[in-house]
Amino acid sequence: MNTFDCVIIGAGPAGLSASLTLGRARRNIALFDDGTNRNRVTQESHGYLTRDGIKPQQFKEIGLNEVKKYPSVSYFSTTVTKINHDQKTALFIIKTKGNQLFTAEKIILATGIQETFPIPSIREYYGKSLFNCPYCDGWEMRDKPLIIIAEKEAFAMHMVKLLYGWSRDLVVATNGTKLSDEALEQLNKRKISIKTEPIKNLIGDNGYLEQVEFESGEIIQRSGGFVVPTFHRPNQFAEQLGCKVLEDGVVVTDSAGRTTIKNIYIVGETEKASSSSLIVAAADGQKVATSVNMDLAIERF
Ligand SMILES: Cc1cc2nc3c(=O)[nH]c(=O)nc-3n(C[C@H](O)[C@H](O)[C@H](O)COP(=O)(O)OP(=O)(O)OC[C@H]3O[C@@H](n4cnc5c(N)ncnc54)[C@H](O)[C@@H]3O)c2cc1C
Repeated sequence: MNTFDCVIIGAGPAGLSASLTLGRARRNIALFDDGTNRNRVTQESHGYLTRDGIKPQQFKEIGLNEVKKYPSVSYFSTTVTKINHDQKTALFIIKTKGNQLFTAEKIILATGIQETFPIPSIREYYGKSLFNCPYCDGWEMRDKPLIIIAEKEAFAMHMVKLLYGWSRDLVVATNGTKLSDEALEQLNKRKISIKTEPIKNLIGDNGYLEQVEFESGEIIQRSGGFVVPTFHRPNQFAEQLGCKVLEDGVVVTDSAGRTTIKNIYIVGETEKASSSSLIVAAADGQKVATSVNMDLAIERF
């Protein structure tokens, strides 16, 4: 079996950027991806210099085409289901959905994160009229009547302060959580409406929000908004391989992507299990790839 210098799991901006750097460094790498990138639900991506407004699928295709130009890069469109660390050889054995096996000296985990929403029907609107990141989609939603859905007071207050720069027509909905007097005072002072009762229903057309119904039966008109989901890694690869993971889900690294287990690197949103952006994930990918390449260079010199 051909042993790769490095296997990269995930071809979001983090994994693609790492692959580009390693391909250009003439490393023999395999890149795996199963098309579950977090932004696949959205219509346009914003804020990535030179690519503002690009469709997520087009962004990915451009990245993949650039990476595939380098002859030492192999790309596999499939899901990695298992990673074993062979203690005798120190190699990683990577198993895919189709039961294919690959071996590698080093691995980069770049599988990103996924959302869990306080109200499951948010998913129908997510990426079209409900979003998470004002830097990504605030401009498109500027001056619209918006709802902020956040169950924790700290997250609700953080989002309302941030979003106030894009729209002043805001309703904060906590889906059942009471707010402190201090928070209520701050919101009332700015005439921001507060709904602490649970949300019963989101009403709209083809992903575009029109109304929000509360348990009391009250219905308000809103044409979009921002939600605060919880984020999680879609797999337990880091934990299963013995990498140190903090209670809040952050994988411990040396800040250059090296985990606490030799030859396992982690990159992009998957490292901290929290949201960032395409450009930050891509920059991170380049940084971690240089760690992998330098480690290989030193070990083999
Ligand atoms: C609705 C929405 C809108 C957004 N808009 C913007 C925006 O306008 N601008 C911006 O900068 N950011 C935006 N983002 C955020 C952006 O998508 C993320 O910051 C970025 O994708 C993180 O990159 P990543 O490489 O860490 O993870 P991802 O892009 O999520 O990539 C992870 C990759 O890993 C792959 N993968 C996962 N598990 C496996 C497995 N077991 N086997 C094989 N492959 C696997 C997935 O297929 C995926 O392609 C948006 C996000 C959302 C949800």
